[in-house]
This record gives sequence, C-alpha cells and structure tokens, in this order.
Amino acid sequence: MNYGETVQQSADTLYSDQLRRGFKRLRFIDFLEEEFRETYQSENGEKSRLTIVLALVICVVVTVISQAVGGEGESAMRALGLAVLVPMLLLTLVASYRATRIAYQFLLGVSALVIGLAGAVVDVKASLSGMSYYFAAQASWIFMIWLVMGFVFRPAAYLAWAVSIAYVAAALSAGLPTEEIIFEMSMLLTVNLLGGYSCYKIEYAARVNFLESKLLNQLAQRDGLTGLFNRRSFDEYVDRIWRQSRREGVTVAFLLVDIDYFKSFNDVYGHQAGDDALKDVAKVLAEAGHRPLDLVARYGGEEFALLLYGPSREYSRELPESLLKNVQGREIVHEGSENSKYLSISIGVAIIHSDAERSVTGAIQMADEALYQAKENGRNRVVMAESGTTNVETGRFRSLSVG
Ligand code: GH3
Ligand code: MG
Ligand code: MG
Repeated sequence: MNYGETVQQSADTLYSDQLRRGFKRLRFIDFLEEEFRETYQSENGEKSRLTIVLALVICVVVTVISQAVGGEGESAMRALGLAVLVPMLLLTLVASYRATRIAYQFLLGVSALVIGLAGAVVDVKASLSGMSYYFAAQASWIFMIWLVMGFVFRPAAYLAWAVSIAYVAAALSAGLPTEEIIFEMSMLLTVNLLGGYSCYKIEYAARVNFLESKLLNQLAQRDGLTGLFNRRSFDEYVDRIWRQSRREGVTVAFLLVDIDYFKSFNDVYGHQAGDDALKDVAKVLAEAGHRPLDLVARYGGEEFALLLYGPSREYSRELPESLLKNVQGREIVHEGSENSKYLSISIGVAIIHSDAERSVTGAIQMADEALYQAKENGRNRVVMAESGTTNVETGRFRSLSVG
C-alpha cells in the first residue's frame, strides 16, 4: 500500500467521486474497477465454486447413468462429458483457488458456455423423444449464469443470451413443434429478463457497498481536521514497517513535529484560526511524505509524526530543515510567539540504523527526547538523535548522544 502524498490526497476522492458521479453502466474508472472485480469475485467465490461442483457431480452422474442405460447414439455425449466437460470443470475448480482473476473468469465463462451448448443439444434431443421437461435444466442453467456463478452483468448477459439462442436454434433445426418452441422462447425471455434485472440490481448494490465501505475505511484512518493519517493508523503502520526495516536492514527516521507557542496562538487569534493554522502546517508536512513508504500523521493536538523509510543521510537532515523553512514561509503571523514573527515548529528527529538494538517505542522515545531538546534550545529548530553516534553539532542541528 502506498501511504505517500498521492494516495493521501487522492484515495478519498477517488471513491467519493465515483459514488457522486454514479455508475449506471456498471463500470468504475479503471483503477477502481480492477479492485472491485477482485472483491466481487472473492465475495462470490463460494457460490460459483458450488455451481462448478454441482455441475461436475451432475456431469458424472448423467454420464454414468447413460453408460448403464444408453444405446449407441449416446456415446458421443458420453465422450463429451468425460473427455471435455469433467476435465474442464476440474480445471476451473483448481483455477478458482490458484489462477489469476482473468484466467479463472475465462475458464468459468467457457465452462458456462460449453455446458449450456451441450445442454441445448441434450435437451432438444430429449424433447424429440417426448421428454420435454428436460427444458427445465436449460432454464435453470441460464438462471445460474445470471445469479449464482458470480459473473458481473456484462459477461453474464453474453453467456445467458448465447446459451438461450443456441437452445432456440437447436429446437428450430430439430423441428420441435412450433407451440413448444413458442412456449420455451417465452420462458427463456422471462428467465433472461428477470435474471438480468436481478443480476444488475445485485451488482449495483455490491458496487455501492464497495465504495461506501472503502470510504468508511479511509475515514477511519484519517484525522478529520487535517486529512492526514491519524494516530491509530500511524501506530499500526509503524509496527509493520518497523519489522520490515529490521528484516531488510533498512534505516528508519522518526520525526516528531510540534507547533511552537500554539496555546498562545489560540489565545490570541481564537480556536478557529488555530484550526486553520493546523491545516496549513499539515499541508506542509503532507508535501514531505511523498516517498512510497513514508507516512505523515497527526500524532495528537498540535503534534505531528513523520516516518521516513530508508532515508539517505542528506535527506534526513535536509527534510526537517525544509519543513522549518516552509512553515515559516507560510507567514502565519504569531504575535504571541516569543522567538519569531511567524508561526514556527520544532522537530525532534531519531535516525535508527538497522543494527540498533531498540524497540519501536524506544525509537519514538528518542525522537521525543530530541523534540524536548529542540524546545529547550529555543524552539524553531531541529535536534537530531542518531543511533550509534556521539555528539556532533552541524549548523542548526544538535545531535544527542545516544547508544
Ligand atoms: P510549546 O512551544 O512548548 O509547544 O508550547 P505550546 O503552547 O504549543 O504547547 P502546549 O502543549 O502548552 O499547548 C498546545 C496547545 O495546542 C493547547 C491546545 O489548545 C492546542 N490545540 C491542540 N489541539 C488543537 C486543535 O485541534 N485545534 C486548536 N485550535 N488548538 C489545538
Ligand atoms: Mg505539544
Ligand atoms: Mg506546541
């Protein structure tokens, strides 16, 4: 998952835009469509597997019975059953667990079609020998294509109509009585209209549900005021990425950012202006979180946290400096500040190399101590702590001595 700026700014709007724009033709923008189809397939996985298993059982049973009972004429159908349908269904079943979505849907589609076509031939033959009730099997298969096999609307429509038309064509060419054909055609029309309508409705509801639950998920991860990730997301992400960094031997940097004299900013300009300033600072920080595995979060109140994954030495020095500069560059006048005309921030940085024997809590604690030091040293500055180094002072930096 990309936690960077692009996602931060765009993900919420992708889902809500799509919801607002609607999708009468049952299609999202490509980026969401792919994700939806994956979800839809996995939600329908059980139903469609059940159909395959049922079809397999029926196929085997019918072939065995016809073997026991049947005469010469049935041998072609038996061969089709054993040599084509059974292996094809087995393959589809395996694909439902192992193959990519496209490959599985393709096999499922081919199975639905081949069984539908073979069924048309068998059912029309049965009708010719007086067993016109076989038609019910054809109608149920079409119903399954629409509603049970888990196809989205369009492929379901192609398949259901193809199988229906094949049946009518077989019936016409076999010369079934006109009355019977008219009756069956109207049955097929009814099944297709009702099946199609329900399939559309079900998919439409699934799409709404997909977008809404994605949006809810996003909202739960975000801070309402600034749109940054919230503390909970930060904690969860940090746990995961910390383990990854230890496995891969990658350096991680934590930045804790705190607005200077913010209480007095609220006192002088009011809470609303305070909120606006928080949003401004958040924007500056969000711009810094553009690398794929970096994360920017509102840590609480007027504190923010940044995690940098595998930053170079230069980057972890230059970035906090540029944050200081950019926040000042916003020129948010702050009469209540004791050290600057404009609103400023202080930053504590902890750079933790992969060989450091530290817990993630210890690492954040290190950044917190550095932040405290930055406040003590006069605010509007950066203090860096680096695992395994001794005191160094460079420019505006002051490094803490840490193990
Ligand atoms: P320091 O320079 O030492 O950080 O001083 P400070 O005044 O910034 O720190 P302190 O912790 O005393 O005050 C933090 C203030 O941040 C207090 C609180 O009113 C304000 N604050 C926290 N969350 C919000 C918020 O969501 N909106 C607004 N407007 N203010 C907030
Ligand atoms: Mg604070
Ligand atoms: Mg503060």
